[in-house]
Amino acid sequence: MNLPPPPPPIRNPEIKYTQIFINNEWVNSESGKTFPTINPTNGKKICDVQEGDKADIDKAVAAAKKAFEFGSEWRSMDASQRAVLLNKLADLIERDRIYISSLETLDNGKPYNDAYYRDLTICMKVLRYFAGWTDKIQGKTIPVDGASFCYTRHEPVGVCGQIIPWNYPAMMMVWKIGPALACGNTVVVKPAEQTPLTALHVASLVKEAGFPPGVVNVVPGYGPTAGGALSSHYDVNKIAFTGSTEVGKLIMEAAAKTNLKRVTLELGGKSPLVIFKDANLDEVVEVAHRALFFNMGQVCTAASRTYIHEDIYDEFVKRSVERAKSKLIGDPYDLKSEYGPQVSKEQFDRVLELIESGKSEGANLECGGNRHGTEGYFIQPTVFTNVTENMRIGKEEIFGPVQQLIKFKTMDEVVERANNTSYGLAAGCFTKDLDTALEFSSRVQAGSVWMNGYGLATTQAPFGGFKMSGIGREAGEYGLQAYYEVKTVVIKTNKKL
Ligand code: NAD
Repeated sequence: MNLPPPPPPIRNPEIKYTQIFINNEWVNSESGKTFPTINPTNGKKICDVQEGDKADIDKAVAAAKKAFEFGSEWRSMDASQRAVLLNKLADLIERDRIYISSLETLDNGKPYNDAYYRDLTICMKVLRYFAGWTDKIQGKTIPVDGASFCYTRHEPVGVCGQIIPWNYPAMMMVWKIGPALACGNTVVVKPAEQTPLTALHVASLVKEAGFPPGVVNVVPGYGPTAGGALSSHYDVNKIAFTGSTEVGKLIMEAAAKTNLKRVTLELGGKSPLVIFKDANLDEVVEVAHRALFFNMGQVCTAASRTYIHEDIYDEFVKRSVERAKSKLIGDPYDLKSEYGPQVSKEQFDRVLELIESGKSEGANLECGGNRHGTEGYFIQPTVFTNVTENMRIGKEEIFGPVQQLIKFKTMDEVVERANNTSYGLAAGCFTKDLDTALEFSSRVQAGSVWMNGYGLATTQAPFGGFKMSGIGREAGEYGLQAYYEVKTVVIKTNKKL
């Protein structure tokens, strides 16, 4: 869909919030420490942010626990009123859309165009979608054996810890708080240390929307300290995490070693996109390109293994390389820019190191492979051919702008290779043949399968991973399940009813 250009960005958005948000108030860290947040477009510091640690997490969890107490304003609120608040929050995000998109571009480096149209659109849709669910979260009456009346209640889990990644900072926060609040929980959010600013602005809107104090708390800080304190806190009843598989394991371990809090994990991927020989090349080269290079490759579902049938392989490679070379790289505030920097120096170094491993392990570098420009963390769009699944670039999640083009012959071969990974987040295929499409979609091990398109995730449908890509589902009706407990109530009656 061709969208009109968005309204012009605010190039130097004012930084309004840098403190910790607890009980609808702004406070400094208990330790007095701060940490810098960096503009990845030029590597310069934007500002210092209060650094939350265990003591601040303890305060935030205590506030969330109090807000959840029986009889509190939040617990006594009608579910339909929770919908009013969620809708109000969506309206305020819409009001501040240009500012939030501009702030996201500053802190994360993503093109303003994408922040405005993709991230912020999803923020509003998610809140409005979950607002619609608030008064429809209901149990069942069950015809049990004996003289009893039985029903179930879907009750909120309680205090939810939510740990957010840096690739979609505002969107991931909203994606997590939406279902939690719809079910009546309270939350403590820990934004990624690379990108804390938009989460803090959303926190200010939570207060403006009228959520009672303590319902939403936001504690910026580092992973092992603030994140670790949240995942091992005895008063946190559920934790939701998006990020690396490595840290996902730590979160589960912390839950297991403490109070067995409920855990949902949305982790990495090495998603296969399979182009069968009847696919329309004019269309699929562009889709495969975007499926990998969108958000500079920093997407958990990035199609980082593209399998192309041998009959169309050479032509597909030629066109993909031309497309990667034509990418409009530059100032992410420029509405013409398709592509900005990687989020941080650490990610920049990590991706360049993986590119070097591809070269030394024998893959063919078709284009890119180096830094772009001299300032900031830009990497040239990079395309490799002759990749195998035992090379690091064919196996590890790169989370950067590096496309692997791989030749295949048969369905059996491509299914086996597509599934030859510890991940299972998403998969895609292009074919006009229904039998081929259905066979691939049922044999591939992935939480989402997109056919004749890619990245077709929406608010209404569940999203999550098979295998080491995660546990549980987010979004859609399935996404609510992680945020309520099912209570079975049985009443003895004097006769069979
Ligand atoms: P990460 O997993 O370390 O960080 C994600 C979040 O977890 C951040 O908020 C971080 O502060 C927090 N965290 C880190 N260590 C923690 C701990 N011990 N306990 C609790 N919370 C902790 O990700 P990263 O280091 O920023 O990026 C590394 C790789 O992770 C990326 O290259 C990419 O492969 C992957 N990643 C995936 C996603 C995704 O959407 N699936 C998002 C971000 C990163």
